[in-house]
Amino acid sequence: MQGWRREISIAIALLIPAVLLSIFVGHLTLFLLLITLFLYVKQIVSINKLERWLSLGGVGKRPDFKGIWGEIYYHLYKIRKSQKRRKKKLGKMLDSFRKSTSALPDAIVVLNSYGEIEWSNKVAHDFLGLKKSDIGQRIPNLVRHPVFIHYLKDQDYQQKICIPSPVNENIFLQIGIVPYGAGLRLLMAQDITHQKNIERMRTDFVANVSHELRTPITVLRGYLETLQEMDGGTSPYTRSFQNMAAQTERMKMLIDDLLLLARLESKAKKFECVKIPELLGQVCQESDLLERDERRVELVVGSNIDLRGDMEELRSAFSNLLLNAMKYSPPDSPVKVSWREQADGSVCFEVEDFGEGISSTDIPRITERFYRAEVKRNQKIAGTGLGLAIVKHVLVRHDAKLEIESQLGKGSRFRCVFPRQRIC
Ligand code: ADP
Repeated sequence: MQGWRREISIAIALLIPAVLLSIFVGHLTLFLLLITLFLYVKQIVSINKLERWLSLGGVGKRPDFKGIWGEIYYHLYKIRKSQKRRKKKLGKMLDSFRKSTSALPDAIVVLNSYGEIEWSNKVAHDFLGLKKSDIGQRIPNLVRHPVFIHYLKDQDYQQKICIPSPVNENIFLQIGIVPYGAGLRLLMAQDITHQKNIERMRTDFVANVSHELRTPITVLRGYLETLQEMDGGTSPYTRSFQNMAAQTERMKMLIDDLLLLARLESKAKKFECVKIPELLGQVCQESDLLERDERRVELVVGSNIDLRGDMEELRSAFSNLLLNAMKYSPPDSPVKVSWREQADGSVCFEVEDFGEGISSTDIPRITERFYRAEVKRNQKIAGTGLGLAIVKHVLVRHDAKLEIESQLGKGSRFRCVFPRQRIC
């Protein structure tokens, strides 16, 4: 406001003498024209100075002006000063962010929407073999593991992946990506070699123990069969022999399931094209053959879609679900099996039974190893509590999900949903 007042005072100070002079000598218009020209040139000179000052980045001493131009320079100077302060603060924040991410034991890489590296910390250099000069490079050109490339391309970052380090294949990295901002992605890689080794030791231990137990169990079963034949089913030991046979049978089932799980954990994934309608026909026929009296399985193949995966694993998962449905429902009730495409492009294998169902508190737990719901009922039905754990493992290896719907007294519906990417 001060500046405006000064500008108006200058104009008035020029106008008054000009008007007075024109009373004596005339030529008011000429005087007014001269005043306007003077004010115009004055503004042009000021604008020119401002332009020159700004073109130099507004650095150095600000031109010494009074009035409105002095105020304009003062405001510009204030804006620049606060910008400088903000820049300094941001710089400090960035510095402390860099320091903290350098102190992290995990590798951090910032990727833009094209998958190009924008920034990476020191651990990323050690784990992923990145260099400072790799900024701007596309990460799939530097980390070339197929699982990683697939993960980046699919853009489904809900799950993490595990790959060997490109620098040292004895180091295992768990990689996760978090999208943020405008198309940016934060890649985090953690060294999980130790966990992996412990896991491998556990799997090896279970596999070795199960394998070692197989031979004694087979020998025991053989001797028991001979004893039962000799006994003829009439001696006081008959019941004991029957119990022993049932328990050795249960042990054999347990060992077989444990070995299967161990194999699933250690075996490399297969991506062969599995003809699902054909496989389902076989699985349903085999299950029906187990029933003595009548056919119970109703198969509806609503789609000819095949899947990329491992046929034996899928066979085991499907027959586990089918056998469960038959086991946990009355012998005269039907079991419905279907294979169909869903509206979102995924494909679904579904088994529905009309048995006793599962309580809502048990549903989240039945895929845990050795978990058997309703112990009383299950004492009568043979099982290991490992079947659904196997199913879940197979589905994870096929990027699929297991959905369970059940109502006590009405029946259950188990659904395996395979993503569209698995179709071949
Ligand atoms: P198992 O059948 O050998 O006990 P599973 O892992 O296959 O082991 O199943 C775990 C538990 O889930 C079973 O003990 C049973 O209580 C329950 N269950 C599985 N399938 C069904 C089904 N179709 N209907 C009712 N309960 C089921």
